Amino acid sequence: MSKEFNAFEMAQRQFDAVAEKLQLGEGMRELLRWPQREYHFTIPIKMDDGSVKVFKGFRVQHSDARGPCKGGIRFHPQETIDTVRALATWMTWKCAVVDIPLGGGKGGVICDPHDLSAREQEQICRNWVRQVARNIGPVQDVPAPDVMTNPQHMVWMMDEYEKITGGHFPGAITGKPVELGGSLGRTEATGYGVIYTVREALKRMNIPIKGIKASLQGFGNVAQYAAKLLIDLGGTVVAVSSWDNTDYKAYTFRNLEGIDVDFLLSITDRFGTVDKTKAAEAGYEVLDAEAWLEQDVEILIPAALENQVTGENAHKIHDNVKILSEGANGPTTPEADEILKEKGIFVIPDFLANAGGVTCSYFEQVQCNTNFFWPKEEVLERLDQKMTLAFHAVTDLAEETDEFMRDAAYMIAIQRVATACHLRGWA
Ligand code: NAD
Repeated sequence: MSKEFNAFEMAQRQFDAVAEKLQLGEGMRELLRWPQREYHFTIPIKMDDGSVKVFKGFRVQHSDARGPCKGGIRFHPQETIDTVRALATWMTWKCAVVDIPLGGGKGGVICDPHDLSAREQEQICRNWVRQVARNIGPVQDVPAPDVMTNPQHMVWMMDEYEKITGGHFPGAITGKPVELGGSLGRTEATGYGVIYTVREALKRMNIPIKGIKASLQGFGNVAQYAAKLLIDLGGTVVAVSSWDNTDYKAYTFRNLEGIDVDFLLSITDRFGTVDKTKAAEAGYEVLDAEAWLEQDVEILIPAALENQVTGENAHKIHDNVKILSEGANGPTTPEADEILKEKGIFVIPDFLANAGGVTCSYFEQVQCNTNFFWPKEEVLERLDQKMTLAFHAVTDLAEETDEFMRDAAYMIAIQRVATACHLRGWA
């Protein structure tokens, strides 16, 4: 029987390969291969029917060498400690590559919110905080929403943290509603960040963004705002795609003249599913799931799921494609990377391209800690500066060393964390 995929083993293998390129010492490698701290705990909840159910919770702090840990909390029935460890490790590299003074963390509860009432979910949030209150907070570890957790969950968690500590600490958690310490611009941040990096890549290639054509996978938060900004900058988006829950299939929606984001939004539900009947009525071609990948465009943006551009389908990418910018986490497999290299496609790796979200969460934390909130334009301007700087630092290194962009991004991130550990005298 084949061994099951283990995300943490993969994160460690990626790290080992880059540690070798960077010639890190044995002690440093051992330090950064493992999370610094892990908390495993039980969360007993009195259910609505009077019974008591015990959930399992985790918080993993991979590295706080560069600053407080940062990372989401997932509520998922298939959550495992190794998934949380891997995600915490990747958060360390993501924060480092965009050079924000934070480390990496991740948390989770094994549960399915679909089966829980709002009261039961609130109890899980409050009880999760009670278990780790001494070990999280604005100067230690700052959680945020992730899969199946939302701003309401964050408010319950913040409220419980403040009850325990007896003060106001909105910077203890991010992803809160704007009415209670959330940052303006967070909704746009990831999609816009993807396009800031695409814009800079085009500049380096001397290709004007005006008239550029793109095709996107997905039409959720990331894809919607990426499409909107690219069109605002003079580009055309010819296709997007989405998952349809009525027949469990994905479809591509194409308009060679360019999609109208506002129209598509008016026929898209809150889960990012485009209504295929209404799209067809409005003249959009409704094509199969993979059609987004095969378009005659210069830019491809996978912004839906992991594992989408693979050894099997990467050959279908059109010869005119110049840039693939990964809005989603892990959309490209290592086999596909090899094909992209052969095709000469410039890849902007996920933990750089989609780092706009965590960068804006950092801005939320900064605003909360100083109790002074910025207008949206200021948030987006600072986001643009951070993403642009990070993009050029990685591209400069990739060019100087002739490394693939993904490897260059890892080299910068891991070197920054290693330097912080070294300066602190840890390794
Ligand atoms: P979302 O849930 O808002 O949207 C997901 C979109 O993908 C929806 O349109 C859905 O219909 C579509 N989709 C799902 N399965 C599909 C399939 N098989 N084929 C085509 N389309 C499919 O999610 P999001 O917040 O936009 O996140 C998208 C990706 O970006 C995820 O990988 C996420 O981890 C990553 N990401 C998001 C953020 C953020 O701030 N939202 C930050 C960093 C990374």
